[in-house]
Amino acid sequence: MRTLCTHCSDAEIAGEDELDALAAQYLGTHDAAHAGDAHAALRRHWQAEHGDATGRIRLRRRRGCDHCGGTGYHGRMGIHELMLADDEVRRLIRHRGDAASLQAAARSGGMATLRQDGIAKVLAGLTDLPEVLAATNA
Ligand SMILES: [Zn+2]
Repeated sequence: MRTLCTHCSDAEIAGEDELDALAAQYLGTHDAAHAGDAHAALRRHWQAEHGDATGRIRLRRRRGCDHCGGTGYHGRMGIHELMLADDEVRRLIRHRGDAASLQAAARSGGMATLRQDGIAKVLAGLTDLPEVLAATNA
């Protein structure tokens, strides 16, 4: 996944619709209105973790300059998904559970998906959402 060029990207206050889109992608709901409490809880968590004193979150914007050949991206980094085999995951493996059940069990056990890891890197100012969506197909 490409990282934002540090010479030209600027941090700007993220809009509500932008944060809604990020949260919907993070939760895999693709629709903030139907995500309800989980969506609100995630937004509060991000505000506490990444927000300024008034709770505003800044996201870095891709621009383009001579350093990055006008693309706004410079350099690459990995995104990762690590599934730990807890009791439920081991049980599903033993009983040949299907992929969707395995993923659900891993996620409820705390696994962050590739896309969630990418969105954490958007919030950390390392890349942007279009790049995360292009690099993941969850
Ligand atoms: Zn640049």
